[in-house]
Amino acid sequence: MHWIQNYSIWFLLILLSANHQVLEAQGKQSYWCSAETPLEIPTNESLDLYQRAPISIPIVVHIIYHENMENVSNARVASQIDVLNEDYNNLAINRASIPEKYQDLVANMEIEFCLAHTDPNGNYTTGITRKSTNIDNIGIARDNNSEYIIHQESKGGVDAWDPNLYLNIWVADMGGLLGRSSFPWTADKSLDGIVIDPKYFGRYESSQNPQGISLGRTATHEIGHYLGLYHLHGPENNDCNADDLVSDTPSQELANFGCPEQEPSSCGSPDMYMNFMDLTNDPCLNFFTLGQKQRVDEFIIQRADLINSNKCEWGLNGPVPPAEDQYYINYNPLSQSANLSIAESKDANNHIYIFDSAGKLVAKQENYRGTSFIFSTQSWAKGIYFCIVRDQEKIKENLKLLIY
Ligand SMILES: [Zn+2]
Repeated sequence: MHWIQNYSIWFLLILLSANHQVLEAQGKQSYWCSAETPLEIPTNESLDLYQRAPISIPIVVHIIYHENMENVSNARVASQIDVLNEDYNNLAINRASIPEKYQDLVANMEIEFCLAHTDPNGNYTTGITRKSTNIDNIGIARDNNSEYIIHQESKGGVDAWDPNLYLNIWVADMGGLLGRSSFPWTADKSLDGIVIDPKYFGRYESSQNPQGISLGRTATHEIGHYLGLYHLHGPENNDCNADDLVSDTPSQELANFGCPEQEPSSCGSPDMYMNFMDLTNDPCLNFFTLGQKQRVDEFIIQRADLINSNKCEWGLNGPVPPAEDQYYINYNPLSQSANLSIAESKDANNHIYIFDSAGKLVAKQENYRGTSFIFSTQSWAKGIYFCIVRDQEKIKENLKLLIY
């Protein structure tokens, strides 16, 4: 288990972020999003009756860093996956802050995200790739043909993993911008996915960033585009007729920024500024609407291979961790359980002990002869735990586990 090794970098990132507030503000103002021809989607009158089974989307995160602080830790990646699962399943919604008139419009998007466990060659993966670069602002750099370099392996970027089977997220310096996304109808599949600046990727402690673009909701917003959603003000500024093509969001003239103290209005009605597809700060963003869910579902059908992709699965018949990771823990925050994978002979007789950071034994399993030990973490406090795998003679492995 190697995903908390970069803890110190995590905290360094938090400190550095506090010094980049001007950039954040600039980034929010000049948010890049493609303005392509809107696609009209028929609407369903009985939105409130609209339900379906949850959808699961595997993610691969490509971290391309110029400076060490841009090489975000595995823990930060995990925090970003958490944020996505919260926002697309209403797990962190602040109902009290939603005006009464919108309460019945709030949708549970019912989309789950997971880091891929299988790479395009069928091998085990953490779902994270890392590459260093000498190219400044590689997130926005273009080649002589005006193509983005970041999506091209041959020019110093990283090629997308098959976008039919993975949602690709590139994390790289965007020179002051926050992020960008493809749309489902973007013709060039090599750039299918989203790009996020490392400063806005994952969740920071809120007290560390008063500017408020620190809760990982840039990715929530960008994935909204990836799934087919426009900004609330539509594909054009200053045009009340340029609609987002969603029936239950009001017409809006321009994006809102910051956290408005008074409800802004435009185009003859109040703006739904707490919607994830406006551009207000992370703490003010709160929900998608039923109409947006329906629009997403119309497009997600076109990504049938993606939502049926099994790239998050691994187990007895699936790929196993590489040899050097003979013992590996996978924590699942949604099910509040963890899986200790033991890649050794079935004759091995192991004792498994799990301690909290104070050294107190919280779980044990002696004389275990299996290869996949699953245990509940439901009653455990958040924090770092240590898992020792040993036999009669010696300690074979000492793994760290972060419960969040
Ligand atoms: Zn946007």
